[in-house]
Amino acid sequence: MAYIEPAPIKDKHNPFESMMVRFNDAAKILNLDDETYEVLKRPHKVVIVSLPVTMDNGKIQVFEGYRVIHSNILGPAKGGIRYDLGVHLDEVKALAAWMTWKCAVVDIPYGGAKGGVICDPRSMSAGELERLTRAYTSSLVDVFGPDQDIPAPDMGTGQREMAWLMDEYSKAQGRTVNAVVTGKPLVLGGSLGRVEATGRGVMVSTLAAMEKMKINPAKATCAVQGFGNVGSNTAILLEDRGLKICGISDHTGAYWNADGIDLEKAVAYKNANKGVLQGFTGGDLITNDQLLEMEVDVLIPAAKEDVITPENAGNIKAKLIVEGANGPTAAAADKILFENKVAVVPDILANAGGVTVSYFEWVQNRIGYKWPLDRINRRTDRAMKDAFETVYQTAVNYKISLRLAAYVVAIRKVAETYKFRGGY
Ligand code: GLU
Repeated sequence: MAYIEPAPIKDKHNPFESMMVRFNDAAKILNLDDETYEVLKRPHKVVIVSLPVTMDNGKIQVFEGYRVIHSNILGPAKGGIRYDLGVHLDEVKALAAWMTWKCAVVDIPYGGAKGGVICDPRSMSAGELERLTRAYTSSLVDVFGPDQDIPAPDMGTGQREMAWLMDEYSKAQGRTVNAVVTGKPLVLGGSLGRVEATGRGVMVSTLAAMEKMKINPAKATCAVQGFGNVGSNTAILLEDRGLKICGISDHTGAYWNADGIDLEKAVAYKNANKGVLQGFTGGDLITNDQLLEMEVDVLIPAAKEDVITPENAGNIKAKLIVEGANGPTAAAADKILFENKVAVVPDILANAGGVTVSYFEWVQNRIGYKWPLDRINRRTDRAMKDAFETVYQTAVNYKISLRLAAYVVAIRKVAETYKFRGGY
């Protein structure tokens, strides 16, 4: 029997604390009453599960998994499932709260949740991952549900895991329930456009911010950290709109080419190279830390949390940061960026395109009908542009950063809804 201990918390930049710093600042601006403050700061439900899984060598390994429902005030809870060795409860709690604020910012009728399992999906076989996903689903069968809590992919999970989850949940119900999860393969009721949706939303919010800042996309340079689903789709879509993508990266390293990275080559290389960029020759090899400090107009951190810190924030040369990842900027770095006039489109706005199309997927499942791609893209673009404009106007009105403005918009909405619904 083996058991993977949770990794020690990187206490210097605890994501839950980062979330709370912003929440507290926004609560002050809104004059949030004590009662609502106490309700919104705590997760509604925290579930810890222990998952014994038979590995390919015949031995049982016990994995620890989490599901945190931060809020179900606006509607059923919604949020992805993360498979990573760095998963820990405070991270999942922060990610769940960010889902609450994200859904409120883009005005979709969901609360926020997140799940995670401490595991290294890259070192596990498909069979092991399937057994783990089914064990996780089966342990949470009373928590999940199309009207309760709707999971989706996040780091380390994708369509394949969502298909297993749907199947396991459906077996427990004795019927097919495809609306219990989003980010499914198309044939299982997945939505057109869901795979690219987060990158598409990042692209739309980047262009909206550039328009306000009067930066011409055809003359702009950009670096994207992370080449997973979010990073690679963002890079491709921004290149389509005229930006030159000079830097890309994944966890194995970063690649810089001042003439622009050939993204088609990078994608083909990654697909032929076990999903990693290691050894890619289309740019000079630099580190992920260096990538963040390169001379570009737009920087898109689309990998992990806490990569922009008080230590490196002062060295960032980009005029605009658009957060494709959840929580890539530690709260302690916000002030430095604000003082240096670096505009930041925050995660809870910038990467909300993913959950927006998840919502469309859930709606299609519930009405039993499939929308064409152009309708999905049109509605996603509209939702992202409207959300950007609301946050931008709030930032102007209160003379605050876009991040704080996004929290103000979100918390105001959830607080108002809570007032109508009430407690016990
Ligand atoms: N994991 C994604 C996020 O952080 C998507 C969540 C969802 O679609 O429910 O926004």
